[in-house]
Amino acid sequence: MQTTTTRYNVRVADADASQLNSLVHSGGLLRQHQPISGMTGGEVYVPEAAALAGQHVIHDGLLQLGNTTLAAELHRLPVQEHALLVAGSPGYMEYPQQQGLAHGLLRPMNPAAQKTWVNRLVASTVQGRAPGVPGLVAPPPGTWRPEETRLVCQGGLWFLSLAFELDAVSRPQRLGLMGVDVGLAPLAVAAGHGGQMLSTRPLHLLDQAGRHALNSQLDNLPPSQRAEVQTRYAALVYGAAQAELATLTTQLIGCADTVAVEALRFGTFRSNFVERARELAVADWVQGVLPQRIYAAGGRLYRVRPAHTSSRCHRCQQTGQRAGAVFTCARCGVLNAHHNAALNIRRRAWRVIRRGRR
Ligand SMILES: [Zn+2]
Repeated sequence: MQTTTTRYNVRVADADASQLNSLVHSGGLLRQHQPISGMTGGEVYVPEAAALAGQHVIHDGLLQLGNTTLAAELHRLPVQEHALLVAGSPGYMEYPQQQGLAHGLLRPMNPAAQKTWVNRLVASTVQGRAPGVPGLVAPPPGTWRPEETRLVCQGGLWFLSLAFELDAVSRPQRLGLMGVDVGLAPLAVAAGHGGQMLSTRPLHLLDQAGRHALNSQLDNLPPSQRAEVQTRYAALVYGAAQAELATLTTQLIGCADTVAVEALRFGTFRSNFVERARELAVADWVQGVLPQRIYAAGGRLYRVRPAHTSSRCHRCQQTGQRAGAVFTCARCGVLNAHHNAALNIRRRAWRVIRRGRR
């Protein structure tokens, strides 16, 4: 059986930095001079053998590594890898009602349903996590590789790097080229040859009424529980977005062996878009999940220059007007703005590929 290795890097809580720094000094973390995938720069460390062997996940935000307990954003792992982590961690703890709450965000809810959802969120969070709550999905064929766990210090921030081995997806034959435009609503739109288009479905997060219901419940909670509910809500929102992106990934791999995205640098500038793109899983998807899924399926990924992909018409290359989801070209008329951008990205990749063949 052919397997493929995936690796994901998640942030460790700032509060645990001093713990890790003292492990470096005491020799509990050994410097490794080999870089790891998905991280450029930074110092890579290998935990000592006993710590690597004594590893399990306590819950969605906590990893036991030998005698060290690390708070890390484990909920940011893709669904499949997360399921492998849970399978490899007997005693893993989850909140009650996790499955129902997660599914609730995948379909529209009226104000009354949102209120019920908020009540369940708050009540089950206050109840607290317990072992033996079923995970969200069954683990795929594969394993977590705890012996490959690394820690990376980059600019004073610590990252936990986890490795997995998945059974390889069957390699696609020569399919097509799809361009993918990344956004917030929708999260991603893919465009291919001859009008072919794929899109994530809209997310059904709490609207104003729902947020109001949540806030009035939060007001009645002590600060620590308030923070816990907010963290859990953020993780559920992330999970809903991730589920939509996972569906799109499967569709995309089914019809394209070559995928093009914009070379966006999420880490280098701060803006509302970047923050939302991180909250809605789309930054992690385009940087880590999508490339690894494409490579695992034997496909290729191109990252193209992002300038003007949404301001030019894909048909005539003239600059048009973009207003939300509508793009208007003076010559070609009204187009779907996301589809237009995805086609520009596709076209750019196509030109790179053609130049390479010459
Ligand atoms: Zn045009």
